[in-house]
Amino acid sequence: MRRSTHSWAWWGRAMERLLRPGRCPLCEAERQAGDERLDMLLYENVTDPGVRAELRASGGWCGHHFQRAMAIARGAGQTAGVALLYADVLEAAAARPPRRGRPCCGICCLAATAGRTAASQLAAVLDSSELDQEFTASGPVCLAHLPLVQALPAGRGRERLLQPAPASMAEVAAGLQDYFRRQSYDWHGDKSDQGVMARLGQLVQGGYPGATANQCRDREARVSWYRRLGRLR
Ligand SMILES: [Zn+2]
Ligand SMILES: [Zn+2]
Repeated sequence: MRRSTHSWAWWGRAMERLLRPGRCPLCEAERQAGDERLDMLLYENVTDPGVRAELRASGGWCGHHFQRAMAIARGAGQTAGVALLYADVLEAAAARPPRRGRPCCGICCLAATAGRTAASQLAAVLDSSELDQEFTASGPVCLAHLPLVQALPAGRGRERLLQPAPASMAEVAAGLQDYFRRQSYDWHGDKSDQGVMARLGQLVQGGYPGATANQCRDREARVSWYRRLGRLR
């Protein structure tokens, strides 16, 4: 695929924003996409009838994205947007309690799409060895995002994205065994976890407590529900 120098440079910078020490780049892509969407909803779309209808239909955001929305709103010193949106959600839920099988969170769906897009784009950038050093300094792809990377077309970028995960998992597994062993009553030395539980958190949650990758089941079903609504393409 041919790309203009300008778009390639822009793309490289966008990918570089995803590479943070100790953090899964795909969790970072999901976090950025989710936060940007919530920010836009709270400051530009609070009175948009379509946005409000969608939020009512989905029964609001998941717990994680509600927490992010509150953090963003509090950061700006203005929580009235969340109040207005959730007055609607609660009125609708009171009139007709949520049922099983309803789609649960539009931000999770949007974030899932951002994660998938970032996986392909990051693989393409790493394919040409760009950002290799930055990727080495970032965290490995987390457990939840590994299947996404494994499903990418074969190539250097895919292999590079997968490369750090096995060594990280083996290192953390050995650390967990050691931590467990040191809890024995006949061990009188250091019983602390020596940071291994934090490293486990990085592999499971991509470096973010409450990261979106593990939030909801049946994400694919919800993505297709939102596609039908025309909210995702
Ligand atoms: Zn991840
Ligand atoms: Zn969510």
